[in-house]
Amino acid sequence: MERVYNFSAGPAALPLEVLKIAQAEMLNFNHSGMSIMELSHRSSTYMAVIEGAEADLRKLMNIPDTYAVLFMQGGASAQFSMVPLNLMSQYKKGLYINTGVWSQKAIKEAKRYGEVAVIASSEDKNFSYIPDMKDLNVPKDADYLHITSNNTIEGTRFTSLPKTSLPIISDMSSFILSEEMNIEDYACIYAGAQKNIGPAGVAIVIIRKDLLGKEMPITPVLYNYKVTMDEGSMYNTPPTYSIYMAGLVFKWLLQKGGVSAMQKINEAKAAILYDFLESSAMFSCPVVKADRSLMNVPFASPTEEIDAKFIKQATAKGLTNLKGHRLVGGMRASIYNAMPTEGVQALVDFMSAFEKENG
Ligand SMILES: *Cc1c(COP(=O)(O)O)cnc(C)c1O
Repeated sequence: MERVYNFSAGPAALPLEVLKIAQAEMLNFNHSGMSIMELSHRSSTYMAVIEGAEADLRKLMNIPDTYAVLFMQGGASAQFSMVPLNLMSQYKKGLYINTGVWSQKAIKEAKRYGEVAVIASSEDKNFSYIPDMKDLNVPKDADYLHITSNNTIEGTRFTSLPKTSLPIISDMSSFILSEEMNIEDYACIYAGAQKNIGPAGVAIVIIRKDLLGKEMPITPVLYNYKVTMDEGSMYNTPPTYSIYMAGLVFKWLLQKGGVSAMQKINEAKAAILYDFLESSAMFSCPVVKADRSLMNVPFASPTEEIDAKFIKQATAKGLTNLKGHRLVGGMRASIYNAMPTEGVQALVDFMSAFEKENG
């Protein structure tokens, strides 16, 4: 069976080179006589894997020693609770910018633990843009400001940050490792792995150490950032295989030249698709140009019937998982780091042929 170009938003495509290494190491990891899934998480063989993954991520993202790197479970969604539990320490209040479905879920969860103020929103226009950051007035009486850097479902991304002295927290599930950024602009970033890091099952939290240890007393121990840091992400058994795979992806990224090299590729890949959408008479992208995501590209034809026909024919050609999120409709191409340029080119070639045939 041939492999397809998988445009899924998540769990998403993984680099073929990484899958091949995992395949080769499956039955006997590093002379242990067993698969990595069967190894004790406290064995020296496994410790080298998790420590290597952290070291490589620190290198890739230039993470200073003043920040902890945590491997946690529960996906990005568990972070919607962990952020308020751990960080609503003084005002019991979080500020949120509402840029889509995932922001809304973060807001809903935070309300269980304290006060939430939504200080900007793009809901008025179906989340097709990012609110203006320049003139945003950010109050000071809150513990943090939370944003969603890349909106996986709506296809928007922040290109600037609001001016504030508050700690900025970001959900970077579909943004992390896609372009260069300065960690020190943020107090805490988090990401579920299954978009741009590795398989589902692990979430990564990068957080300023001085913010830790001020959690609410009700914080479950497994949701406690300080405990997780102190225990080296091993208060209990971590998702060992997912962390191993993430580590392989980090090595692959380093070999490719790191995040700056990926950013250039990602910009070129996204441009192939957006340029075609601009020139097309059949397909269009609903997102304001300046705020378009490099990772998730929503688009649509004039009718649901044509959308359905397009998705069906694309799938038959090995261009899969292009159906848009049920809340947005149309199509969506997720083109994370693991999607090769040839995959995006194949998609555009097919869109162009489809348009000629059906236009
Ligand atoms: C996928 C996604 C989530 C949810 O991730 P889970 O790991 O399934 O909890 C949250 N935020 C963003 C931006 C996402 O893309």
